[in-house]
Amino acid sequence: MTTPVEKLTNILRLEAEKYQDQAVLGGLARYADTWLQEAGAAFGSEAIDWVEGIANRLRTYSDLPDPAARQEAMNTLREALKAPPSPRREQQTESKQDALKTEPPAPAPSPSPGHRTSLDSPVTTLRGVGPRQSKRLAKLGIHTIHDLLYSFPRRHDDYSQLKTINRLEYGEEVTIITQVWDAGVRQTRGGGNLFKATLSDGTGFITITWFNQPYLADTITVGKQIVISGKVDEYLGQLCFNSPEWELLEKELLHTARLVPVYPLTQGISGKWLRQLVKRSVDYWSKRLPDHLPTSVCQEAGLMDLETAIVQIHFPDNKSSLEKARYRLAFDELFVLQIGLLRQKHLWRSEPGKPLSVNDDVRQTLVDSLPYELTNAQKKALGQIVSDLCTDRPMNRLLQGDVGSGKTVVAAVAMALAMAAGSQAAMMAPTEILAEQHYQTISRLLERAPGRRPTVRLLTGSVTGQEREEIYAGLEDGSVDIVVGTHALIQENVQFKQLVLAVIDEQHRFGVEQRAALRQKGYNPHLLVMTATPIPRSLELTLWGHLDVSIIDEMPPGRRPVTTRLILPTERERAYAFVRGQIEKGHQAFIICPLVEESDKIEAKAAIEEHERLQTHIFPDLRLGLLHGRMKGDDKEATMAKFVRGELDILVATSVVEVGIDVPNATAMLIEGADHFGLAQLHQFRGRVGRGEHASYCLLVSDSSSPEAQERLQAVEATNDGFELAQRDLEMRGPGEFLGTRQSGFPDLKLASMTDLPLIEAAREAARRFFETDPELAHPDNRLLARKVQAAFDPAQSSKGEGEAS
Ligand code: ADP
Ligand code: MG
Repeated sequence: MTTPVEKLTNILRLEAEKYQDQAVLGGLARYADTWLQEAGAAFGSEAIDWVEGIANRLRTYSDLPDPAARQEAMNTLREALKAPPSPRREQQTESKQDALKTEPPAPAPSPSPGHRTSLDSPVTTLRGVGPRQSKRLAKLGIHTIHDLLYSFPRRHDDYSQLKTINRLEYGEEVTIITQVWDAGVRQTRGGGNLFKATLSDGTGFITITWFNQPYLADTITVGKQIVISGKVDEYLGQLCFNSPEWELLEKELLHTARLVPVYPLTQGISGKWLRQLVKRSVDYWSKRLPDHLPTSVCQEAGLMDLETAIVQIHFPDNKSSLEKARYRLAFDELFVLQIGLLRQKHLWRSEPGKPLSVNDDVRQTLVDSLPYELTNAQKKALGQIVSDLCTDRPMNRLLQGDVGSGKTVVAAVAMALAMAAGSQAAMMAPTEILAEQHYQTISRLLERAPGRRPTVRLLTGSVTGQEREEIYAGLEDGSVDIVVGTHALIQENVQFKQLVLAVIDEQHRFGVEQRAALRQKGYNPHLLVMTATPIPRSLELTLWGHLDVSIIDEMPPGRRPVTTRLILPTERERAYAFVRGQIEKGHQAFIICPLVEESDKIEAKAAIEEHERLQTHIFPDLRLGLLHGRMKGDDKEATMAKFVRGELDILVATSVVEVGIDVPNATAMLIEGADHFGLAQLHQFRGRVGRGEHASYCLLVSDSSSPEAQERLQAVEATNDGFELAQRDLEMRGPGEFLGTRQSGFPDLKLASMTDLPLIEAAREAARRFFETDPELAHPDNRLLARKVQAAFDPAQSSKGEGEAS
């Protein structure tokens, strides 16, 4: 087996033949992490300085401008590699510490930044952090020094209020500065022990107890000055403190008498230990943290400088500087996000797309041939889309409209226009059921289209064999004009002759890569993404800042709002009776099963049982169908088709019905366990009824009678406005859950709130202005920013090197 050193030596020998940074794929900088891992493991933490040093040289090597500079760097690198320290020996100090079962003593106060340590060095380079502690820190997402600086406190406890003992009041959170009068440990009856100290500040005495921390007796000794922060408690009529924060007065105060940072913790990492580690790292490294924000941006936006912001977010002088630090760091996140989005848009646009020649007459005849008249909102959206299609700048448009507002027809017309102009169009939907339904709708809508009838095909996972081959061939030779499908559309073998318009329905169900994959199928095709999840403006700006937006804010005529009622589990019988009543009137109903867990399998099982129960015990005389995500494509389709044809009275379904299904005769929906769903999702479900001219109803049964659950559901009951519900959902659950787990590819925001519109707008505006000055981020001054953007959008790919210690 080759050792890491041998391996790297070989690579360097190869590189030294040409100095073109081509010895390994992606350059030596990319190899740095591999080296770090392999050599780090082989040599252990004692050699970390050396291992790190080599890694840093590898990183900088790739940045060197010419072969001469590289040659020089290479010589040093090869020399350094010849002098490895002696191999691994277990670090002893730490295992001893861990054996004590108490928290390890705080790390030594001074950092040990070796000459070659950088912000990207692993935390093990810090004194007091051995392999064991570093593993625990990793659980908190802290791997490097940089991570440590950026692991922000969850909150701060305000211990800045100093008081004297005679003025203490029960229940308040305060800080006192005192002297130890008496201290000692005794055993408790339960087998533990109690450390008890009596303190005085001259105005009175107070007793403090700590359970099971006998070692405190070594530090808190008679005569010492100590600071206590915590909540004033009471025992047998006397005020006291139980296990408060404390520290000796002799040092700079970290844990008491200030705004004290409170970090997320894990087993084996105590608040006090982490606070000290962060403090030490912040003290030394915040000065060495290069500011990636352009100075002009900082000035214009009146931002705190990065060093101060990092110091203040952890150990604020006061509330106002904490606020300023938070603002600055949140601004950073949003600014980087916006620059990334602007870059994407810039890249898309830098290559021209194919302008379509849309004939106005054709368009008019096409619209006239539809079975109904378009609403004004639909006409307006169509107008915007058509004018995009006619330019050579590829369209990037988000078509937003509440459930049932009629987005499909708008997309269908756009696709037909693409076909009339001699090209192909594709529409991708998240589920087979939906793709199938779109396929039928679109075929029907275009039945009476003027001119040549478009050839429309359906391509999903269930389309196989001969038929699939036929469609592949048709797409390749151009005889298929419009294809509707699922993920099957982005398989490798799918090739288009000339795809100019790609439509994605329910786009939040797709990841960034999948959207990109569909675009790849054409040469810079026009892209239309559609969503029925109304997107609050803040999210629209942050996540879809690179898209133009059309909104359909009007319902087709004759729609009646769905009447929604929140009912108690005890009223279920009445709800069943109500559902039955609707069916007796000739209508159909949905019953949505509770979301037991985010798992298809478990959800399916619950749905099967519920279907069984309802069919046998509640509705034995009615025709019930079952629909869940685990069913085969064919079976799903068959069931759906039956329901659409009216051969089923009730469709018992899981959340798979959330998207897009259109059955105008369905007038009632009963949603079990409604409190487990998001508001926006409930609104989507509800959109499955009320699609015809009949009055429709949605009954929500909640498992929880908690006031919060009731309040949330009452919001769904009270309004039919999807926007309002989405906004509430976002505020209550945050963007991650709001968008669903599928929304990948966007950077993580730690501090920025997706609901802070003014901040988002400020960052967006700053990014827009700045971007114009350097859209390629090519200026040397903007190199750090460019890296930051890349790292944020593509953490796996970017090399990490940032600042280095001098
Ligand atoms: P969504 O925007 O939720 O995707 P759909 O495109 O499925 O909505 O349309 C919902 C229903 O409204 C469909 O049954 C469709 O036929 C109907 N519809 C759409 N536009 C109009 C219109 N302008 N007039 C009448 N009905 C319409
Ligand atoms: Mg739809």
